[in-house]
Parts: sequence; structure tokens; C-alpha cells
Amino acid sequence: MRLKRLELQGFKSFADRTELRFEGAGIVAIVGPNGCGKSNLADAIQWVLGEQSARTLRGARMEDVIFAGTRDRKPVSLAQVTMTLAEPLADAGPCPADGKANGKPVDGTARSQPRQVTITRRLFRSGESEYLLDGRPARLRDIQDIFLGTGLGPDSYAIIEQGRIGQILSSKPQDRRLVVEEAAGISRFKTKRRLAEARLEGAKHNLERVFDILEEVGRQMNSLKRQAAKARRYEELKAEWMGQLRRLLATRYSLLEREAARIALDLNLANAQLQRVSGQLAEQEAQYAQLQSRGYQAEDASTASRQRLADWELEAERTRGRRESQAQQAASLEE
Ligand code: ATP
Repeated sequence: MRLKRLELQGFKSFADRTELRFEGAGIVAIVGPNGCGKSNLADAIQWVLGEQSARTLRGARMEDVIFAGTRDRKPVSLAQVTMTLAEPLADAGPCPADGKANGKPVDGTARSQPRQVTITRRLFRSGESEYLLDGRPARLRDIQDIFLGTGLGPDSYAIIEQGRIGQILSSKPQDRRLVVEEAAGISRFKTKRRLAEARLEGAKHNLERVFDILEEVGRQMNSLKRQAAKARRYEELKAEWMGQLRRLLATRYSLLEREAARIALDLNLANAQLQRVSGQLAEQEAQYAQLQSRGYQAEDASTASRQRLADWELEAERTRGRRESQAQQAASLEE
């Protein structure tokens, strides 16, 4: 991959949008007076690749990468750097985004179109930040994955600032080894091994958890077995109880059936008796009605007789009165 384009806006001394294009296959040298911003360009490349240390970028806080203003110009609120890397036409291999940045084409065939990748990093003064990969939001991890083992990642040998060569030469062999490993592309595999080991560790933890769960499930199974045995015993007892209840009810039923037959017989007898007594009652009632009507007739006759008697007594009284008056008349006539 070759650096094709670098665009800065609001980054350190580059307040305005500044675009640098790197054409051809040679070496690019940036020259200029002290303090004109040469190192700021290297900082911009490091920053867009995901550098997290403000000190490495020669600042105290990450916010220091945002243009802080000058006597004549106000500060800005956003720093943005966009970098485009492309495969040279001649050895166009798989895209770095495939995680094979420094490999030859897998199938050995040359590609007609050079592939390229564009990375953007933005930082707002509010602290909000974002990465874009080919214009789409991405995680820092995605950016780091692309450059793993290519010498372009953070802490890699590709960007060596002032004084760093001396530091590398005088550093411990182990530290130098890191630089050599990155150059040889071993660090990519080391990182992969670290990730695989972390995954293995995670899998081990998961396995332990599975064993714990298995143990717990075993315990629960024993308890369930005990409960199942109790449930079976309950079913047996219930079946036995139902059998006994059925027998008891059957006996009770036949007893009640016999009792019902006996009561039905008694009922028939009582009905017959009732009919007989009802007949007698009807007869006696008829006799009573007859006697009653005869009583009424006798009573009527007696009332008529009493009336005639009263009439006769009245007639006798009148007759007596007439006889007395006639007797008096006769006496006076005699006189
Ligand atoms: P030298 O040749 O001395 O190493 P240089 O060309 O590498 O210098 P840089 O160190 O890249 O210069 O740039 C330093 C300049 O950048 C200084 O003038 C400094 O004021 C300016 N600068 C750094 N950070 C900011 C910022 N956040 N806002 C505005 N200007 C900044």
C-alpha cells in the first residue's frame, strides 16, 4: 500500500482544509522552515491511524490536536484528517480491508483496478470522536485490524519521529525485537495468537461454566428424580384409593337399589290401600250427604209444623176471646 492522499482540516496548525497528493512511486520529502508544520503532518498520519496517546502527538490532551487559534484567527471546534492508501497497479494484491495488506494476490492474477482504502478520524472539542472507513462509520478496532503487521499501526516502526532512531538503537534487545517482528509481519500473527489465546481462555471459562451448570443440572435431576418417585407413588396410591372407592360405591349402590325396590313395593301397597280407603270415604261421604238432605227435609217439616201450631194457638186464642165476649154477651142478654 502506498500513501496517495492526505487531507487535513482543523488539525493542529492546518486550520483550513489542506490536501496533499502523493503521486508516483518515489520518495516524498517535506521541507520547510522550523515550525511550519512538517511534524504536524506526521502527527496527522499517526492520529488518523488511531494513535491514542496525546504525548506521542506532542500534546498534553487529545484536544490539543484541534486548531487552537492564532492572534488573527479564532479556534475551530473540529479536527479532521482523511488518509487514502492504494495498492500500486503493478503488485495489486488483496485489499487491506481483507486483513491481507502486504500479501500478493491469492490467485496470482494481477488486478486491473488498484484497490484503495480511505480512513477518516474526527474529533470535536466536545470530546465526541468518530472513525470512518471508506466513508462508513467504523470502530478503532476495524482500523487497527487493517494495519496489523504492516508496520503502519500505532507504536510501529513506519513512523519514526525525531530522536527515535537513537532510542531504538540504544533500547533493550527485547524492545528492538518488537520493531523487527512488526517489520517481518510476525506481530500480526502474535496478535492473532493473543486473541486466539484470549478466546481459548474465554472458551475454558465457558467450559467451566458449562461444568458448573452440568453439576447444578445433576443436582436438580436428583431432586426431580425424587419428586418423580413421589409422584409415581402418589399415582399408585390414588389408583388404589379409586379402586377401593369404586368397590365401596358399587356395594352402596346395590344396597340402595335393593332398598329402592323394597320402598317401591311398599309404595304400591300403600297406593292400593289409599285407593281402597278413598272408595270407602266416597261411599261414606255419599251416605252423609243423603242423611244431611234428609235432616234438612225433617227440619223443613218441623218448621212447617211449628208454624201450623202457632197458627192454631193464635186461632184458639181468638176463639177463646170470641167465646168470652159471646159469654159476656149471653150473660148480659140473660140479664
Ligand atoms: P521543526 O522543523 O522545528 O521540527 P516543524 O515544521 O516540524 O518544525 P511542527 O512541529 O510540525 O513544525 O509545527 C509546530 C507548529 O504547529 C507551531 O507553530 C505550533 O504553534 C503549531 N501548532 C501545534 N498545535 C497547534 C494547534 N492545536 N493549533 C494551532 N497551532 C498549532
